[in-house]
Amino acid sequence: MSRQIIVGNWKMNGTTRDSKALVQAISGGVKAEGPDVVICPPFTQLSLAASQLEGTSVRLGAQDCHKAASGAYTGDISPAMLTDLGVSHVILGHSERRQGHGELDETVREKAVAAAKAGLTPVVCIGETEDQRESGDHFDVLGWQIKGSLPDDFSGILAYEPIWAIGTGRAATTEEIAETMVFLRQELVRQFAENGKKVRILYGGSVNNENAASILSIPEVAGALVGGASLKPDAFLSIIHAAS
Ligand code: PEP
Repeated sequence: MSRQIIVGNWKMNGTTRDSKALVQAISGGVKAEGPDVVICPPFTQLSLAASQLEGTSVRLGAQDCHKAASGAYTGDISPAMLTDLGVSHVILGHSERRQGHGELDETVREKAVAAAKAGLTPVVCIGETEDQRESGDHFDVLGWQIKGSLPDDFSGILAYEPIWAIGTGRAATTEEIAETMVFLRQELVRQFAENGKKVRILYGGSVNNENAASILSIPEVAGALVGGASLKPDAFLSIIHAAS
């Protein structure tokens, strides 16, 4: 079995001072035999984090990228700019970007294609709203998001993040996660055949040091995408140590 992967999404947090201390604490506490660890600071801290992480096993991720390699796209960052800094992963289609920046499945898919072409591993996020889960439409929604957001030859990472669980302190239950993981795998295989078997699926949504062990032991859960707790070194290291 391959190692699990723990991805920390710092979102829009991290001045130089905070970022330096956080990277140092995390890289100092990671054990070589543990899971793969990726931290995703804001763009402004990537360069500094890259130099601090040199020689460690912790990998660097970004929180978004543009689909174009370069050009007249004010304020955007291209996949090539990220690889140039030593970035290996990129989160795409996070619900905060889908909701706050109007990103559609098609945009996410185009970004995933561009990121993979540049040598980055895309971590594509999907997830239903609370209303969609309550009305029982969540599996339809997830199926459409997979179809729309993932390229046919996708070989990156899929992150299942129910929107109602993000930043709320209310993680999905182990039963809800287990049932959704079974659905996602079936859907990936139905849509992408052999390729669908290889996609690694993470869970994200209020993962913390208390619930990490039970979430990470659910079949098909290849790791976790962690928001709030990734900013607290002790909590993030506990999550890492709960993974295999
Ligand atoms: C996220 O934003 O991807 C996330 C999972 O956040 P949190 O862990 O804070 O719920």
